[in-house]
Amino acid sequence: MKDVPMKRYTSMRIGGPAKLLLYPADRTDLLAMVSRLQDSGTPYRFLGNGTNIIVSDNGIDDALIRIARMSRLHFTKTKDGAIAEVGGGFPLKRFIGECAKRGFGGLEKLYWIPGSVGGGIRMNAGSFGQSISDTLTGIDILNERGEIVEKQTERGDFGYRASIVKTSECVLAGRFSLKHADKDQLQADMDYVYRERKQRHPMEYPSAGSVFKAVNGQSAWWFVEKAGLRGYRIGDACVSDKHTNFIVNMGHAKARDIAALIKKIKDEVLSKLGVALEEEVELWGFNG
Ligand SMILES: Cc1cc2nc3c(=O)[nH]c(=O)nc-3n(C[C@H](O)[C@H](O)[C@H](O)COP(=O)(O)OP(=O)(O)OC[C@H]3O[C@@H](n4cnc5c(N)ncnc54)[C@H](O)[C@@H]3O)c2cc1C
Repeated sequence: MKDVPMKRYTSMRIGGPAKLLLYPADRTDLLAMVSRLQDSGTPYRFLGNGTNIIVSDNGIDDALIRIARMSRLHFTKTKDGAIAEVGGGFPLKRFIGECAKRGFGGLEKLYWIPGSVGGGIRMNAGSFGQSISDTLTGIDILNERGEIVEKQTERGDFGYRASIVKTSECVLAGRFSLKHADKDQLQADMDYVYRERKQRHPMEYPSAGSVFKAVNGQSAWWFVEKAGLRGYRIGDACVSDKHTNFIVNMGHAKARDIAALIKKIKDEVLSKLGVALEEEVELWGFNG
């Protein structure tokens, strides 16, 4: 697809056109696409569910590849649980629901993170003390040379909202080692997570989740709050009243409003509190 408005593909509901949006049907198709893009010198990157990105109003020139169709799910039983092998395009929330239905635990605290499995692995998504890398044992990855490599993952491959996966690489599948767990307890844990999120997060407005990373274990909302920016607004981009590490789109926000608000927050927190905040969200297409 050509010139696709990114507001349709991002949870922030913002962004100009992507020049090219590609949906490979399978690995063979993906390899052929990447080879064509490399031969023609076209830069490309991978789009998941668009829940951690803000795309410029001018759009993005890179070709975007979305592996949403590559979403196979398979369980192999082990003596104390199962190995779940899941495609990178599979929605994380649905994957966790499928695990819970079968009585396999280890991911339930990540329930309701709205990304894809591949995006979650790249970002090392986490919530309520659990990270996606805690149970991850391996990935299939498409590397920069356009080769598919199977890799066993180790603890050192991941950090706080960080992983070894590079911008130019694609997580095609993940393997998770899950343990038997009581189905009712898993459901209760997922219900708890949902209730807490609904109470704490501004789920009623479009957003990209937490804008800034925690600083030395202190959640970024605390600094934004201390800097007096709760409810601060530029155009329709607003620091949420409910959770000050969320910027919400109150209606017709532009990407430039979001970017200006991010800059304002960083400047104020630095000058008032001496703390340099770092974005957790990614800004796409802002440099030219
Ligand atoms: C309401 C809300 C709540 C949120 N809560 C949380 C939370 O509790 N914890 C948390 O960690 N995050 C949270 N997030 C942020 C976001 O959901 C996660 O970062 C998620 O992992 C991003 O996945 P995605 O598929 O949407 O990735 P995208 O936003 O599409 O992309 C993010 C990055 O991952 C890369 N990527 C995407 N797919 C792949 C792939 N298959 N292979 C390689 N790279 C890929 C992209 O190139 C980009 O660099 C929240 C977001 C929202 C909107």
